[in-house]
Amino acid sequence: MALSPMMQQYMQTKEQYKDCLLFYRLGDFYEMFFDDAITASKVLDLTLTGRNCGLEERAPMCGVPYHAVETYISKLIDNGFKVAICEQMSEPQQGKIVSRDVIRVITPGTVIESSMLDEKKNNYIASIYKDKQDIGIAYCDISTGEFTVAEFKDNATTELNDALVRIRPAEIICNEQTIEIVSSLACVKLNIMPKFQTYLEYAFDYNTACDTIKKQLNITSLVGFDYAKLEKAVCASGALIKYILETQKRALNSINKIVTEKNNDYLYMDIATCRNLELTETIRDQKKKGSILWLLDNTKTSMGARLLRNWVLQPLTNEVEINQRLDAVEELINNPILLNDICSVTNNISDIQRLTGKISYGSIMPRDCLMLKNSLINLPDLNHLVRSLNSAKFENLLQDIEQINELTTFLQNAIDEDAPNIISGGGFIKSGFNKELDELKNISTEGQKWLSALEATEREKTGIKNLKVGYTRVFGYYIEVNKSQQDQIPFRYQRKQTVANHERYITDELKQIEEKILNAEELSIKLEQQIFNQAKDYMKTLVENLQQVAKDVATIDCLCSLALVAKKHNYTKPVINNSVKTINIKEGRHPVVEALLKDEQFIPNDCYLDTKQDRTLIITGPNMAGKSTYMRQVAVITLLAHIGSFVPADFAEISITDRIFTRIGATDDLAYGQSTFMVEMIEVANILNNATKKSLLILDEVGRGTSTFDGLSIAWAVLEYITTNIKAKTLFATHYHEITDLEGQLEGVKNYRISVKEYNNKVIFLRKIVRGGANKSFGIEVASLAGIGEQVIKRAQEILHVLEENDLHNNTKLFDEQPLPQKQLSQTNNQIIQMLKDTDMNTVSPLIAFEILNDLVEKAKKE
Ligand code: ATP
Repeated sequence: MALSPMMQQYMQTKEQYKDCLLFYRLGDFYEMFFDDAITASKVLDLTLTGRNCGLEERAPMCGVPYHAVETYISKLIDNGFKVAICEQMSEPQQGKIVSRDVIRVITPGTVIESSMLDEKKNNYIASIYKDKQDIGIAYCDISTGEFTVAEFKDNATTELNDALVRIRPAEIICNEQTIEIVSSLACVKLNIMPKFQTYLEYAFDYNTACDTIKKQLNITSLVGFDYAKLEKAVCASGALIKYILETQKRALNSINKIVTEKNNDYLYMDIATCRNLELTETIRDQKKKGSILWLLDNTKTSMGARLLRNWVLQPLTNEVEINQRLDAVEELINNPILLNDICSVTNNISDIQRLTGKISYGSIMPRDCLMLKNSLINLPDLNHLVRSLNSAKFENLLQDIEQINELTTFLQNAIDEDAPNIISGGGFIKSGFNKELDELKNISTEGQKWLSALEATEREKTGIKNLKVGYTRVFGYYIEVNKSQQDQIPFRYQRKQTVANHERYITDELKQIEEKILNAEELSIKLEQQIFNQAKDYMKTLVENLQQVAKDVATIDCLCSLALVAKKHNYTKPVINNSVKTINIKEGRHPVVEALLKDEQFIPNDCYLDTKQDRTLIITGPNMAGKSTYMRQVAVITLLAHIGSFVPADFAEISITDRIFTRIGATDDLAYGQSTFMVEMIEVANILNNATKKSLLILDEVGRGTSTFDGLSIAWAVLEYITTNIKAKTLFATHYHEITDLEGQLEGVKNYRISVKEYNNKVIFLRKIVRGGANKSFGIEVASLAGIGEQVIKRAQEILHVLEENDLHNNTKLFDEQPLPQKQLSQTNNQIIQMLKDTDMNTVSPLIAFEILNDLVEKAKKE
């Protein structure tokens, strides 16, 4: 037995798309067969049926209706599959097999359908190339055409890892030699990244890649372009372009420039820092609400929202660019009416960037055109408003929009306001736009008049009063007569169809009218489609202009967003330039904690850091006093200034910073196979290896994940090294009060503490930072606040008292083994005491303290 001809055709096609689920068009359905059907039926919850395929056993089959295909594909893409769409390329003919071809492969990184994309995030596909030492990366969002490259020298896998975490590509391709390095990346191991796949080795070849790029960008040589010097990035780019063209099977003129990312252009933050500062999502529940982006995002357009996200993840280091943004924000704040007017205009602008992507892709529909027109129509107003602003940043925005205005007028004249979203039935070209089309449409309207006239004359001629002229899609026009009046019909009536109580007839005259009407309708639909195709071609010539306009609108939107936030929360303009060498903040606040505090007032604090006498601040203070908040707020204010945002402070002078590193809190990377302490040490090592004098370091309780002696020694040594060798501006919070001894011993170290008041054995948090070190952690008081029972708290106080007494009398360190309070002790008591001995109140967090005390209480109760 042999496969049927259609199945042979299927098999041949499938052979070429082995790594995809093949959606095979059969009439109104896309069918899947064999293994594809088994997989898809499971993922999509479809019934698995079978189809005769010529073999003894039926082929497993499942299918989805063509009009609902997007939803199904979306689910498959979300599950990491690739889908090849195989369409019928010829009309079905008796005895002939319909020719079919794959018209597109949809992959997670090449989606352009709005329904499958997050409007506030880019959807990137990345390509990585590595030779012996260096790594090149190219990434592209094909829905917008943005294409960026970067290169990392000397196997800089940490930087590659951090870049990937920032970019969050939906798909990664790489060459063979890169597999090892990519699979070893933390983000891949932790499944933050999608599965990566190798792609044709030759596509990464330098010369092939150069040719691919030249062809795509329509240039004759790469000389003179920034990226030309980055050989590995060129290889990655060439392969990426080839992959995109191969899967999309069409030219994409939206990919028309390659932007080079230079590492020094941006303030570098590693993954831990992005996470700790909660830049785009919170640590606790990975939600946008509560993050820095959430606070800053008052954008009105999705293009603006995407750009702001990129601004937050890539703060600038160039003083001119930063100040251009700051000046622009300031001018907007100082012109509240103008700011308001601009926001009202941008509010009406849709995603021009992704609509342009659809133009380039050839998938733009009439309603998209209306959306585009309704957006572009706002540009003259926006331009007028922007022209009245004087800051340098506004100077080049929305220049040269004449051609865009012409497009707006064209769309206004051409596209019907009530256009449907499909082009198969016509009805989307406005009347008055094309004379020939109007005439054809007139025939349809006239035809209706002819039909009414015909109905009237036939009624008169036959004397059948309820005779009707009607129409069905299948049978066309007819004259309908009640069966009881059949004997009254004239000879010239020819029977067409019998229905329940009526007979339907046709006459020669009706046939002629029918022909004219149907012909005109068919012709007008064809003509509309032709006009629309011409409009698509015309729009394609304006892709670059549209991209520029979209970028400008997004920039204006972001600047307005920053201005709105600054106004709302009363932020000030930071002083930031190369001559400022300090971080000098007066009355600074943590913007998110402040915004989320409900009943309490946020207590502002100052901070002064320089590279000389005040470069390392040791922050001590009780649990819950606000040490972490204080240190994060300094980092966040520094970061905001580099984004070009105003800052939550009364005054802020911020030195240009090359890197911000934070080491905060404890996280187990269990999936990565590392303990809390190991993760902490890896992060510290990363900081020590990469921080410079121009960096800002935030270190919160380094060394607390191990025994007291080990922890204290590590914390001490790390601090010494940073202060004497790196000389970076550093905030170092600790419960090891011994470390405060370093002030006076090491140049540049200053002690600060977050003050509290003790009242009636209770601790009152003042949240104010003051000079000097703290000598008490108030851990037990905080445990009491957390609701630990009085008995346990009292006992803990007794034990602490004895430990402290002994410490004093013996003049030994707190951590030395000390005799415990004298008491006749049972075995359980001994266990309790042993647990307490093993516990270091200086290092346990309130949560762990609670757990320990809980155990103690349980044990005590059993006694
Ligand atoms: P621990 O040593 O236990 O980690 P901590 O000293 O780091 O504690 P934070 O976590 O910074 O304390 O602060 C605890 C809480 O106090 C915060 O969640 C916040 O709600 C509040 N807080 C901190 N600083 C301020 C402030 N300046 N004004 C008002 N509330 C504050």
